[in-house]
Amino acid sequence: MSQRKLFVTTALPYANGKFHVGHIMEYIQADIWVRFQRMQSHMVHFVGADDAHGAPIMIAAEKAGKTPQEFVGEIAAGRKEYLDGFHIRFDNWHSTDSAENTELAQGIYRKLKHSGMIATRTIEQFYDPVKGMFLPDRYIKGECPVCHAKDQYGDACEVCSSVYSPTELINPYSTLTGATPELRSSEHFFFKLSDPKVVEFLKTWTQDGKLQPEMAKKASEWFEAGMADWDISREAPYFGIEIPDAPGKYFYVWLDAPVGYLASLKNHFDKGQAANHWHEASRTPQSFDEFVADPAVEQVHFIGKDIVYFHTLFWPAMLQFSSRKTPSQVNVHGFITVSGEKMSKSRGTGIDPLKYLSIGMNPEWLRYYIAAKLNAKVEDVDFNPDDFIARVNADLIGKYINIASRAAGFVAKRFGGHLGQVSSDGLHVLEVLRLEAENIRALYDSRDFARALREIMALADHVNAYVDANKPWELAKQAGQEARLHDVCSACIEAFRLLTLYLKPVLPTLASKVEDFLKIDPLAWGDVHAPLPSGHPIGEYKHLMQRVDAKQLDQLFEPPEPAPEAAPATALPGGEGIAPTITIDDFAKIDLRIAKIVACQKVEGSTKLLHLTLDAGEGRTRNVFSGIASAYEPEQLVGKLTVLVANLAPRKMKFGISEGMVLAASHADEKAQPGIYVLEPTSGATPGMRVR
Ligand SMILES: [Zn+2]
Repeated sequence: MSQRKLFVTTALPYANGKFHVGHIMEYIQADIWVRFQRMQSHMVHFVGADDAHGAPIMIAAEKAGKTPQEFVGEIAAGRKEYLDGFHIRFDNWHSTDSAENTELAQGIYRKLKHSGMIATRTIEQFYDPVKGMFLPDRYIKGECPVCHAKDQYGDACEVCSSVYSPTELINPYSTLTGATPELRSSEHFFFKLSDPKVVEFLKTWTQDGKLQPEMAKKASEWFEAGMADWDISREAPYFGIEIPDAPGKYFYVWLDAPVGYLASLKNHFDKGQAANHWHEASRTPQSFDEFVADPAVEQVHFIGKDIVYFHTLFWPAMLQFSSRKTPSQVNVHGFITVSGEKMSKSRGTGIDPLKYLSIGMNPEWLRYYIAAKLNAKVEDVDFNPDDFIARVNADLIGKYINIASRAAGFVAKRFGGHLGQVSSDGLHVLEVLRLEAENIRALYDSRDFARALREIMALADHVNAYVDANKPWELAKQAGQEARLHDVCSACIEAFRLLTLYLKPVLPTLASKVEDFLKIDPLAWGDVHAPLPSGHPIGEYKHLMQRVDAKQLDQLFEPPEPAPEAAPATALPGGEGIAPTITIDDFAKIDLRIAKIVACQKVEGSTKLLHLTLDAGEGRTRNVFSGIASAYEPEQLVGKLTVLVANLAPRKMKFGISEGMVLAASHADEKAQPGIYVLEPTSGATPGMRVR
């Protein structure tokens, strides 16, 4: 098999926020694929970068009182903790706000212009006269022209889902200053996506196997709808890269964002680190320019389904018409959901990756779980807590880890830590495992990780059946069975080595521990056919992986503790200082309602929570999970009135969605002064009354 040269990227995360579990899922997918390719001795450059430009970052930085560079710098500084934490090993991490990206993006633009692919056109756009800038659609609001809902965004109505242009809004205003925007015209630059040459190229490019079938189909739908030219310029002030020979004009962030893949790779080469990844067989390292022009290099992108248009139309067309090589694969994945619900920022739900790590959950559990759910299709991946526990405890620990733990002790105690001869029945089991190597290799290569892991677990079942048939723990008690015990345990250890090899792309740290335990060099795919010989010494077996405890998942989905207030100068009776002053308008934002507790139940699996069913006079009931189980038995609360925060964003918890919060009093230090007291109005109040 000839050595492949791979240039692999994940989508560049927008540098206005921390990573969420969706990012981590994508990086785990790509990292598994990359580690697998490296085990095949292929050469891989795997790079990422922060997507740093654009109006949202410029505006967020201004609000935070920082320069955009400072703002994205702080976000970038937080990346390593996540990547290291989940064993995601990029070769390089860079930024689109960099010298390399400026040079490459401007170079690509010049080539596009030279090949006649850039048009200029005067367009009318809303302009904020107070802020002195043209407004992106998302910073314009007004009344929906269709259903007349107020405060709708410039591109679509959240109430009736109509799509329109911002100029159709009734009474539009700038969300930045509140000013009424003015229509102003300016000259914009367009990439001629509708040019017959471009359309012809894309029609071929999208249909020749570089895309998943469902994405290729999507692309043909887009061609049927017709290609429009792409507006690639923005007016100053803009945080971005200046367009050559066009003072005051900048590239739209989506023009320079994918160029960031090349910029990060160039940065990697320029640091002199890229050569480290050459396989021994290679002669001399190539320069960046030679490498990206090399027809043998496969350029592989991993992206989410929300940015397909940019990566399957704009990006290949930009590369093609600037005389560069186009991508070899664009691998699209779905979103991650939690218990079937799409995560949303407003609900603040989902899995916080750093919290996952900080409460001591093993990153390789998540890698395994995600891998067990990922295939080559564009499907959403659901994180289900019970399924997570089952897959990790029953499959990973119960089927795989147990093989080593059942055999290793006997090898150490009875046979001085040395392996023995395996007889024909054991050799047969091992042969079954080896015969699957090619199938598993093909499944990893085609990103069907779910099936690869199913096959591996089926092999683990096969080994466990052999263990159960031979019962080493009984052989150990029987006289004259020493040789058979040695034989069976040696077969188990070799089987464990093979399973570890197959799982190594998913579980790199565990595999490294196993390599230490087995006293072997790092496992490569070819080692399938290099069994441990009779007499090979192995190390002492130490526990390789803990089981998941259901309590850890409870903790993962507990709402975060409120940020601690600054310590008060003098201790107050409640134990905590008074919060900063708010205005009456701030208070009015909180909609407090009288609610009747119509039902109340304990929550199975939680010692803290009670499940309240509340009637707040809405003609329906609400579910609220409240952390008051330590203070009340459910029957004490049924029939009582209390106060509900009625407009709190719903929150997905492990046990269901909590639609609000009930008010209760407690001391700041619950240990020093225990007790939680649910608020109850004096008599006469009825459900639905507003508390003000
Ligand atoms: Zn509407």
